[in-house]
Amino acid sequence: MIASSPGAPSAKPDKAAGLRPRAAAGAWAQRSQARWLVGILLVNLASSAFDTAFQGDTLAFALELRLLFLTPLMLAALVFNLVQINAALQNAAGALASFSFIVTVAVIGQYAPEPFASRYLMSALFLLCGVALFGALPWWETKAVTLASLAGFAVVTATGLQMPPAWTNLDLVGLAIPLCFLALKMRLQRDTRLAELRRMRVIDAERTAELRKANIQLSELSNTDSLTGAFNRRYLDQFVRQSSTSIVPASWQGVLMIDVDHFKLFNDYGGHAEGDRCLKQIAEALRHAMRSEDDLVIRYGGEEFAVILEDADLTEARQAAERLRKAVHDLKIPHPGLGPGRTVSIRIGACAVAPEESISDALTRADKLLYEAKQAGRDCVAA
Ligand code: GH3
Ligand code: MG
Ligand code: MG
Repeated sequence: MIASSPGAPSAKPDKAAGLRPRAAAGAWAQRSQARWLVGILLVNLASSAFDTAFQGDTLAFALELRLLFLTPLMLAALVFNLVQINAALQNAAGALASFSFIVTVAVIGQYAPEPFASRYLMSALFLLCGVALFGALPWWETKAVTLASLAGFAVVTATGLQMPPAWTNLDLVGLAIPLCFLALKMRLQRDTRLAELRRMRVIDAERTAELRKANIQLSELSNTDSLTGAFNRRYLDQFVRQSSTSIVPASWQGVLMIDVDHFKLFNDYGGHAEGDRCLKQIAEALRHAMRSEDDLVIRYGGEEFAVILEDADLTEARQAAERLRKAVHDLKIPHPGLGPGRTVSIRIGACAVAPEESISDALTRADKLLYEAKQAGRDCVAA
């Protein structure tokens, strides 16, 4: 729950926060490439239905290209993409599948009878623009595959796959060139915008992490007593308020009030600076003598400390108090105001608070017990 020493941060800053957007961008690119490959695979398979309008050899040739060449190639590219062995290989396979699809559609178009031929060539042109705009490959690969596909498309379309070339459909090639460059330009603009957005997200995540860290530090500082490093009174008040409103079932808690004996005298004889050093040592000894990180040491004010022991009944509270008293006694800090051989001591009022009781009532009780301990001669525990 809450540490006995406010030294360690209670919540770890999110170290991975800054890296997350980059990793997410990689996963996003991989998913969109997979979607693109599944898309062209389905289009390729669905298009074989149109091929059935052809006759004889043309039909067999189109189906062979689609089912025996393109489909395995696309499936292999998809497997590479899903297995993610190597990003370069993955991109190359995706690019090859897209290139082959465009050129194959154009080739089938050249063998197909009219009116199918021109429709196939137009479809290849659409695919060409599609790979530039939505191909989901990185920019360099997109440019390469688009230009290579444009070249393939131009050769197939212009030559009519004849020797000497038939020089047909040059108008389509003329249309394809500016369309490709326009699509590439739009793609570059979109990629640039996305990259900028991603960069801003990274910066934003880093700033959020820094802010969170600063907030944690600030909250630690505002809860810490600067001299002793123990929690301060402000923190105790907050803790008491939280406990009274908490819906978590509480358990018995030990509440101790601690007062340094004859401390005014210590200051009067040893000096205020020496007194400060003594308080620091006492706080340190109290912290070390705690049972667990859940127990709290609080500087209540001046030379007084309060301790809250989680899950402790009266017996445990008394035992803990005795341990704390002994821990300070064992420091053997010479008391300049009490004469030679006398050392600094503390007295403790200890009580236990039932789940339904309030901690502030328990603190008042412990304070009264402190008075009894003083009457009993100091350097002792009253419970
Ligand atoms: P008792 O045994 O009855 O507790 O006597 P006492 O002298 O310890 O108690 P008293 O309340 O008379 O004096 C407390 C002293 O603690 C007075 C003050 O100078 C000193 N004190 C309080 N805060 C600090 C501090 O931050 N540094 C130092 N050096 N002294 C402090
Ligand atoms: Mg006092
Ligand atoms: Mg005192």
